[in-house]
Amino acid sequence: MTAQPKASHYINGRFVEDEGGKALPVIYPATGETIATLHSATPNVVELAVEAARAAQPAWARLKPVERGRILRRASDILRARNAELARLETLDTGKAIQETLVADPASAADALEFFGGAVAAFHGDYVDLGGPFAYTRREPLGVCVGIGAWNYPIQGAGWKSAPALAMGNAMIFKPSENTPLSALALAEIYTEAGLPDGLFNVVQGYGDVGAALAGHPVVAKVSLTGSVPTGKKVLALAGSQMKHATMELGGKSPLIVFEDADLENAISGAMLGNFYSTGQVCSNGTRVFVQKGMHDRFVDRLVERTKKIRLGDPLDPETQMGPLINKAQHDKVLGYIEIGKKEGATLATGGGAPKLQGFENGFYVEPTVFTGVTDDMTIAREEIFGPVMSVLSFDEEDEVIARANDTEFGLSAGVFTQDMARAHRVVADLQAGTLWINHYNLSPVEIPFGGAKSSGIGRENSLEALRHYSQVKSVYVETGSVESPY
Ligand code: NAD
Repeated sequence: MTAQPKASHYINGRFVEDEGGKALPVIYPATGETIATLHSATPNVVELAVEAARAAQPAWARLKPVERGRILRRASDILRARNAELARLETLDTGKAIQETLVADPASAADALEFFGGAVAAFHGDYVDLGGPFAYTRREPLGVCVGIGAWNYPIQGAGWKSAPALAMGNAMIFKPSENTPLSALALAEIYTEAGLPDGLFNVVQGYGDVGAALAGHPVVAKVSLTGSVPTGKKVLALAGSQMKHATMELGGKSPLIVFEDADLENAISGAMLGNFYSTGQVCSNGTRVFVQKGMHDRFVDRLVERTKKIRLGDPLDPETQMGPLINKAQHDKVLGYIEIGKKEGATLATGGGAPKLQGFENGFYVEPTVFTGVTDDMTIAREEIFGPVMSVLSFDEEDEVIARANDTEFGLSAGVFTQDMARAHRVVADLQAGTLWINHYNLSPVEIPFGGAKSSGIGRENSLEALRHYSQVKSVYVETGSVESPY
């Protein structure tokens, strides 16, 4: 199997190669085979991309927003028309089941291009009446922005960052995760085909050092990172040292609270979606599932029954419900956490193994896993695992569960299942998180802001919030009378 792109990087509307950069193999996680070899960017490639973006941005910013938006919407249509082939590429890059990538990945990028392509024309500054004189504000682009992606949602990440950046009149240099470099290149070609002028969306491949070189480049005005908390702290410090704008979408250990009056099957569906989708590699996953005592045993019995039915297998088979993890390191890390969970006294209710599937013996598979009897101090209840491992904890009272849910450095997401709407709104108001769900989990439509509180991040993606984060305000005072002066 091969998925070799025309070249590693995409700069100024063209594929660019520099074999002087460190090799960057692309491994198909289901088989462990190398399906492409790219090269990490050399300093020369980084400079080429920055210069292309810097040169192209001013003319783009002068276009009417509706004209910029039209190009984004055209690109969105192309993404949708090529959904099947892009979903296949994303499955090869990530190992995620094709039944997910067909509905979730290119489609979510297309949603972002469509939304921002339309919304930007209605996003403008204010008029301020000063009783004669007046003022107005202008929303202006920042200039050259850098996007750095994680490996769990590669094309979605590229779309979520580039669409608001470009709509607002910025240029973007996007560095995909070194684990999933392919689909951003496909997006770059689509932008060009849709009529995006050269130099406005550039893809530069590389490891963390390339991300740091881009984020620290003096021409760059903003960096938007999706990644882990430790990486976020480094990138935010670097951006801060140069007074750059920054958006940080980082990790989590989110609580999902199930009260005993909740609909049992819906709550279990929410917990399964919030732990097993994308083989558990979702930042906002509700990995601490707090279930109220009166429902706990029924919940666990049915959850285990349903979890055992999840079909692992060939990611390209539409019947497969769960693919492998991204790579060997993540595979070993997740299995390591499962061992720690057992050692620290949690009960392994189902899963926990690393199956050898026929024809996929070298794939990075881990069974969907449920631990019960988990307590707040256990490592599996405190650290982000980023794999299909759910921890079920039990609770008695509303106040108690809110305090326990908030007892974490993270604050990305949270969920509440209950039929009592007054309680639902009261609880979400007290939960320390950026993105919350009542009676569902993990839906992230482009219309609503997405992002974290506490160590889980700064800034928001999606919605009009994202346009705010890719722009700066200029205030203009206008005098309509004469200048009063004491001199
Ligand atoms: P990671 O932090 O290892 O890497 C993220 C990106 O940062 C990669 O492109 C990497 O090359 C780059 N990078 C690494 N070091 C860098 C440095 N010093 N300077 C600049 N760039 C650097 O994360 P990952 O393992 O790819 O992704 C998993 C993590 O991402 C998890 O913690 C997960 O929760 C988080 N995540 C968050 C969201 C969100 O929206 N909040 C979404 C997906 C994933």
